[in-house]
Amino acid sequence: MTYFKVNERCTGCLACVQNCPASALKATEDNTQRTLHHNMARCARCATCWRVCPEDAIEFQHLLVNEWDEVVTLALARCMVCGEILHTRHLAETLDADLRPMAETLCPRHKIQQAARLRAYPQKAHGAEGKKTES
Ligand code: SF4
Ligand code: SF4
Repeated sequence: MTYFKVNERCTGCLACVQNCPASALKATEDNTQRTLHHNMARCARCATCWRVCPEDAIEFQHLLVNEWDEVVTLALARCMVCGEILHTRHLAETLDADLRPMAETLCPRHKIQQAARLRAYPQKAHGAEGKKTES
């Protein structure tokens, strides 16, 4: 993804490269072409390139876009009673086998209710494991 955009007016004069105080612009050349490169990690968004460009070719507004980029999307595990979000499914899958039972499917509130029920009716404890519980 690039936020530094140059329009068709660019003549490749390199004024932007030569004046960038952060060395965030460079040009490479082969036998037939000159290519302009921009490095977002170095860029200070100072707009010097935009100011010195004689062709008004740098579309600086793209560097100022205030948007969130989606990075990753993961499936959620929810409390089986109330639907409260607990963690991602992927997180539970990465736990060691020993710890996996701790990645329960009940939220803290319903875990307490479940524990209270099991204390009150211990004979049902075995059958209640993993069974859907009323809120
Ligand atoms: S200063 Fe403007 S015209 Fe010159 S290379 Fe940079 S973007 Fe292109
Ligand atoms: S905004 Fe400033 S730091 Fe970024 S490329 Fe332009 S001159 Fe360089």
